[in-house]
Amino acid sequence: MARTIGLVGLVLREDGPQTRPVFLCHYCGGEINEAENGMFYWDIEGSTPAYSAHKSCDVAAGLPTRMSMGLSTELIYLLRNSGMDEADLEHEAETANIMARL
Ligand SMILES: [Zn+2]
Repeated sequence: MARTIGLVGLVLREDGPQTRPVFLCHYCGGEINEAENGMFYWDIEGSTPAYSAHKSCDVAAGLPTRMSMGLSTELIYLLRNSGMDEADLEHEAETANIMARL
């Protein structure tokens, strides 16, 4: 039976004229700005939502083992599931780069 697990940590940050999506760490509240340093964690059987966190903050919390997936892997799955092709990804990357320079 399929199960749907909510995800917390994805927010929109307003920074001057820009509004940009970022993942926040469940523990320290900081932005996860490097995908290789971010993870998603969720309970195998519980009904609590999954959350994003810095790898180092989760290690420091010392919680028992849960299911986890690297942020970079999760993002690739999300992009694939959105139906975007390579040309779409390149176009959107260019747009994001332009927006970051504003
Ligand atoms: Zn953190």
